[in-house]
Amino acid sequence: MNQRTQIDKTGKDFWKQAGDRAVSLLFPRVCPLCGRILPTAPNNLLTSENNPYICRDCYRELHFPAEPLCLLCSRPIQDETKEYCRDCAATVHHFDQGKALLMHDEAAKKILYDLKYYNRRDNALMLAREAADRLEGWLLKIKPDVIIPVPLHKKRQLERGYNQAQLLSCRLSEILSSRKIHIPVDSRFLVRIKKTSAQKQLQSAQRRDNIKGAFEISYREDPGKYTNCSVLLVDDIYTTGTTLSECAQVLKEAGAGKVFFLTFSIG
Ligand SMILES: [Zn+2]
Ligand SMILES: [Zn+2]
Repeated sequence: MNQRTQIDKTGKDFWKQAGDRAVSLLFPRVCPLCGRILPTAPNNLLTSENNPYICRDCYRELHFPAEPLCLLCSRPIQDETKEYCRDCAATVHHFDQGKALLMHDEAAKKILYDLKYYNRRDNALMLAREAADRLEGWLLKIKPDVIIPVPLHKKRQLERGYNQAQLLSCRLSEILSSRKIHIPVDSRFLVRIKKTSAQKQLQSAQRRDNIKGAFEISYREDPGKYTNCSVLLVDDIYTTGTTLSECAQVLKEAGAGKVFFLTFSIG
């Protein structure tokens, strides 16, 4: 790096930090669970030692999937002798493997629901930071070339103003990048062309019918862009894996070598 770019970079950092400070005074960051204002100074006793975006007390409310885990979807399984959960043993999934950050209990539900429906976009930062800390080793192993968020239908995204999976992907990519792990986010390649009804009220066969043909590669993109690449799909919640499997199938038909997924909770 020559001196000129170094000065520019230092200058930019100064203004960025000053900007961040001003923003945090105007819009203080709050704990996603109890709503207490979180101090910006690091190592403050109120915030969790591990994650500065949630308070210490609420951090203890988070539950992470505990071994033994399904080899495919990473859902905890009761029977140690089994390799796959009931869902994965009974279904053909098109993804190669995936991980989930949290168990879908009350705490995770609140954090993800607020992120999705109540514009609590900061929640994505807390979740992405935790995912980066806990799943960095796995990400280094699977070496994704790109992160692709599960897309929303254009109309739904316009109504909501954002796609929560895209926010989670971007925050994750930024945090990893600060650790010198560069995985770009591509939110344009895969699109949702079918406005599907909410999956959670449906039985598994209905879910598959509901989601069939819902995704495709955008006509604006080169369909062979990720030929033989390793792709990481990102979504907020994993329930039966139907949506992720459908996305993985479309990506593989377009030539993707491996398709992994990361979700922020698993039910
Ligand atoms: Zn709290
Ligand atoms: Zn499974």
